[in-house]
Amino acid sequence: MVKVGFVGWRGMVGSVLRQRMLEENDFQGLKPLFFSTSQVGQKGPEIGMEVPELADAFDIKTLSSLDAIVTCQGGDYTKEVYPKLRKEGWDGYWIDAASALRMEKDSVIVLDPVNREVIDEAFESGVKNYIGANCTVSLMLMGIGGLFKENKVDWLTSMTYQSASGAGSKNMAELVEQMQTISKATEGKKMPVLELDREVQETIENPDFPTENFTVPLACNLIPWIDKEVEDGQSREEWKGSAETNKILNSKQQIPVDGICVRVPAMRCHSQAITIKLKEEMELKEIENTIAKANEWVKVIPNNKEDSIRQLTPIAVSGKLTVPVGRIRHINNDASFVTLFTVGDQLLWGAAEPVRRMLQIVLKKIS
Ligand code: NAP
Repeated sequence: MVKVGFVGWRGMVGSVLRQRMLEENDFQGLKPLFFSTSQVGQKGPEIGMEVPELADAFDIKTLSSLDAIVTCQGGDYTKEVYPKLRKEGWDGYWIDAASALRMEKDSVIVLDPVNREVIDEAFESGVKNYIGANCTVSLMLMGIGGLFKENKVDWLTSMTYQSASGAGSKNMAELVEQMQTISKATEGKKMPVLELDREVQETIENPDFPTENFTVPLACNLIPWIDKEVEDGQSREEWKGSAETNKILNSKQQIPVDGICVRVPAMRCHSQAITIKLKEEMELKEIENTIAKANEWVKVIPNNKEDSIRQLTPIAVSGKLTVPVGRIRHINNDASFVTLFTVGDQLLWGAAEPVRRMLQIVLKKIS
């Protein structure tokens, strides 16, 4: 039986991964070993079968005995443990949700509904490292992958509306705490709306307002910068848009992808408004068909108010694998430009699902 190690299984991404694996009955037919960086020796998770107690996630000898390791522990863990494992001669499969190894030459960024051929070719040529993509990139490609597949995209810009969960579980909790703080300060107060607005503003500006994780308020606000600064005024999140998209697609010629990434007070779904310069003019129907047939999860939403406000929102998509794409229309009646809006659950297709599916691909190939 194939021996698979799971590191980072109780974190936010790891928990969603475990839940999806249970839903799909993925633990059957493999021998799982769960690791921890902080709870070694404690009881492993409930997965409907006996599991040994938690192993030490830094124990290279035990890790080396595995056929595959799936980690959702984070980049620092990957940077510390992965090189040691390879140095010891371990040649198993490393499947990782963190970004640390994404751009390495011997890694493939995985999003199999979009780049299954790239994964299969890499597998044939002996690649052992399969890394999940940035959440926004994965969700963009799940939504409009069909246009890339049919080589229709000349360039694109993506203006994002990214949820709190993308920053981690503590940030999600902080957003709720910020909303609670505002709620407490205004509860039961009947006042003219401009006074209510001032009360909210003063509450948020109070030095005690909880901003330890986001640094600045997110509730009743947005943050037009995600991750570190890179160069040319770009954020690292924006840089990933281009670098990772082209690596996932294994583009022979780089397709320009750029935009502005913005954090908004949604809980776990990212949205993006995308403008695409097409290589040639396309009718709207053809664009919709190209998008819709790319995979079984994408769903074209008719461009009308009722469907858009009901089906094309973070709340409509939360906890679901469906990736709706709507507001599809030409700009200025120019059929070589299309604008659209897409939403996706960033803990599912944005994080856990590509990793889960990659483990299944590896298991099928090596069993
Ligand atoms: P996380 O929730 O902070 O969990 C990471 C680890 O923290 C856990 O595996 C656990 O390790 C430890 N931990 C300490 N206290 C905990 C507690 N009370 N509850 C649960 N875990 C606790 O991290 P994450 O957001 O899942 O992200 C993991 C990796 O995935 C990161 O590299 C991230 O960049 C990447 N990623 C995240 C997203 C996202 O949406 N957040 C999307 C794509 C990729 P021990 O059991 O060893 O203590």
